[in-house]
Amino acid sequence: MKELVAQLNRYAREYYTEDRPSVSDAQYDKLYRELVDLEQAHPELVQPDSPTHRVGGLVLEGFEKYTHEYPLFSLQDAFSREELDDFDRRVKSEFPSASYLAELKIDGLSISLTYIDGQLQIGATRGDGTVGENITENLKRIPDIPLSLSGGETITVRGEAYLPRASFEAINAKRREEGQDEFANPRNAAAGTLRQLDTSVVAERKLATFIYQEAGETSFPTQEAVLEGFAKLGFVVNPRRIVTSSMDEIWDFIQAVQADREHLAYDIDGIVIKVNSLAMQEELGFTVKAPRWAIAYKFPAEEKEAKILSVDWTVGRTGVVTPTANLTPVQLAGTTVSRATLHNVDYIADKDIRLDDTVLVYKAGDIIPAVLNVVMEKRQDQVPMAIPQICPSCQSQLVHYEDEVALRCVNPRCPAQLKEKLIHFASRDAMNITGLGPSMIEKVYQADLVQDVADLYQLTAENLLTLDGVKEKSADKLFQAISASKENSAEKLLFGLGIRHVGAKASKLLLEKFGSLNALMVAEFDAIAEIDGLGGVIAQSLQDYFATAGAKQLMAELEAAGLNFDYLGKRVAEDATLSGKTVVLTGKLVSLKRSQAKEKLENLGAKVTGSVSKNTDIVVAGTDAGSKLTKAQELGITIRDEEWLANL
Ligand code: NAD
Repeated sequence: MKELVAQLNRYAREYYTEDRPSVSDAQYDKLYRELVDLEQAHPELVQPDSPTHRVGGLVLEGFEKYTHEYPLFSLQDAFSREELDDFDRRVKSEFPSASYLAELKIDGLSISLTYIDGQLQIGATRGDGTVGENITENLKRIPDIPLSLSGGETITVRGEAYLPRASFEAINAKRREEGQDEFANPRNAAAGTLRQLDTSVVAERKLATFIYQEAGETSFPTQEAVLEGFAKLGFVVNPRRIVTSSMDEIWDFIQAVQADREHLAYDIDGIVIKVNSLAMQEELGFTVKAPRWAIAYKFPAEEKEAKILSVDWTVGRTGVVTPTANLTPVQLAGTTVSRATLHNVDYIADKDIRLDDTVLVYKAGDIIPAVLNVVMEKRQDQVPMAIPQICPSCQSQLVHYEDEVALRCVNPRCPAQLKEKLIHFASRDAMNITGLGPSMIEKVYQADLVQDVADLYQLTAENLLTLDGVKEKSADKLFQAISASKENSAEKLLFGLGIRHVGAKASKLLLEKFGSLNALMVAEFDAIAEIDGLGGVIAQSLQDYFATAGAKQLMAELEAAGLNFDYLGKRVAEDATLSGKTVVLTGKLVSLKRSQAKEKLENLGAKVTGSVSKNTDIVVAGTDAGSKLTKAQELGITIRDEEWLANL
């Protein structure tokens, strides 16, 4: 159970806070279910930080916090007809005459809009349900949100902000061209957009909304009246819905929507079924995080059949050769899919995937289409596929190490690897060089101007001007962008080097500890491995890398070119334990009880006291922190949040 909690909390942070999920919703839901079942069987073992009693994500820095007058909730979910029937029985046992309104479950993010005397005053995210982020200025940039209501109403409404699929495709096409990471799906793109500090980006991205609920007391008698009333007020409400007391009819509605889900202009992930009468809703009430009067039926992950027409083998920046199948086009979760990953040679062998096979395709993480397995009934006389022996880019012999699933090109001068390395180096989380996307890198490479990343810093605006289609202005801009990247904080450079296992997060942790690349290059194995969240594999990889003559030369060239090797952010204290520190807890904690938080701090050596004074070292502030927080701010005491505590 502890493992599941840790895993789910990590996925939730990636999904809600970082807007980049690493697993599919279906995978997340499966693990979540497993945890719910275990918690029901062993209530005495429920973990205090379990995601089952927490709504949504964490509140980010950068926006003002906003405490919702009425909390926003989650929905209990169902994956089968039986679970819907159970829900129906529970409701009907209290209200035999109950009818339901079934509507689409929009896969966007919850927003709350507060109008005072008809004027939009506050727009906020759900956050953890109680405290969200005030994103009013961003929400005002969504064209379909009314800025004022003609009747002068004072009202708080809830709904979903989403990115239409067409806008999503356009944004990703642009990001691809600029060498930035693509958004995983429209939901993450919408969430990322609404957390932009630059409101003009929001205006560009063409978000839209569906509004479906009034917060707090309402004068509408039913959910249907709510939707009709909202439409009259000028909100956009979703037209697709039914009202019925029959689960059979709801099931038909679910099947019908699911069948033409892919033709909708936006993503949905299920159908929400709500008790229509608001008086009955009030009687039915809530569990810890979800209403008893509603349930969300979640669609199963989509799988479709397609035929493998051919296979492309491409070389990535680490030399790994990846197979991608070209398929007969199929519609999958809203997009046309004609390519899907086959992962690696071992996967192909294990699943016995052959050319011309009919296979099942699905979207992993709702992101990258992948081949699930072969539909064996449709196999005829297909023969096993030929596995390449030589690199498709440089024609050198490929190797298949015994302990690896991948096929590798180990030629350090392989052009495909070099180009991929440059793309990675220039990308947003690495050196963030605007204008140096894949097509520009191709040009620079073709013109023989760069052999490795250090050569980028030898380029002049004149060099760039010789490239096909590059005019003076863009040559200048690119030159400036490359020069400006020299000043980046060193974790961006470290990540940009593309050292095996050293991602953006590890790079940051490493520089927080060592302060500079020069210190990291001579760091002891143990000093690296003991960093919380890293470990021996990363330490080994770094030491292997910095021991090579190639890396030594590259680092010397980069330093000579004037790149900053120092970490410019805040360093962590040398000693991560809290021995001898005086800590004060204030505000409301969501994941821990106050007594548990105190115990945890004390176990780490801290003395926990009740009031803030100049002897206090750290104040841990939860939500709604009041005078203690103010005092700590006045005294300049280090202030930490609940996440910090949770991560200790
Ligand atoms: P939920 O599935 O419990 O549903 C609640 C939300 O549905 C509401 O907050 C609202 O925003 C939305 N909604 C959309 N249409 C609605 C309508 N017509 N009426 C009412 N609400 C509507 O959402 P959640 O609480 O955010 O929880 C978890 C979901 O997020 C899971 O289903 C999971 O798949 C996904 N998740 C995925 C990952 C991952 O790593 N892939 C991680 C965490 C959560």
